[in-house]
Amino acid sequence: MDLAAVGNDVERVIVSELDLQQRIKELAAQVTSDYKDRDLLLVGVLKGAIMAMADLSRNMQRHVDMDWMAVSSYGSGTKSSGVVRILKDLDRDITGREVLIVEDIVDTGLTLSWLKSNLESRGAKSVEILSILRKPTAAKVEVNVKYVGFDIPPDFVVGYGLDFNEKYRNLPFIGVLAKHMYT
Ligand code: IMP
Ligand code: MG
Repeated sequence: MDLAAVGNDVERVIVSELDLQQRIKELAAQVTSDYKDRDLLLVGVLKGAIMAMADLSRNMQRHVDMDWMAVSSYGSGTKSSGVVRILKDLDRDITGREVLIVEDIVDTGLTLSWLKSNLESRGAKSVEILSILRKPTAAKVEVNVKYVGFDIPPDFVVGYGLDFNEKYRNLPFIGVLAKHMYT
């Protein structure tokens, strides 16, 4: 779906499709080299990370295992609630595995810091985080995001997996949702 198809729902594009794809390639190369001769299990956080997982994994010159978790922290609004619920757990045991969490965005970081310690408590050998986007609010929490695609302003964004009420995930770029959509 392109910008014209969403009319004025999207105020402006902040990361273009080209920039996203370019950065994904760089991140994939970085991860490939950091995990050389190591195990690698990519854990995608549904549903926001679907696009990132698909593009990242296809740019990695190695075998990867993929698993998925679905957690909920937002409800239908645009503010983080801090309450994390597991909606879908991993399919496999991760004891001794080298886990890389793939996430769409770090906002407050509440979801990721909870998820990271949850996976560590299951006996993973390592747990690192890759997030396509990071908001300035993320600086306030103690969650170490090893790989970041882009630092963005504190606006509510959609596209490339990110939704507003389950829509806009299929935009190939990141755009700022127009204020009139939620005020
Ligand atoms: P956090 O716990 O505040 O870091 O937020 C985690 C989740 O909130 C992300 O994984 C997203 O699913 C959602 N989220 C945060 N900011 C945005 C946004 O700007 N657009 C869409 N979803 C967002
Ligand atoms: Mg998410």
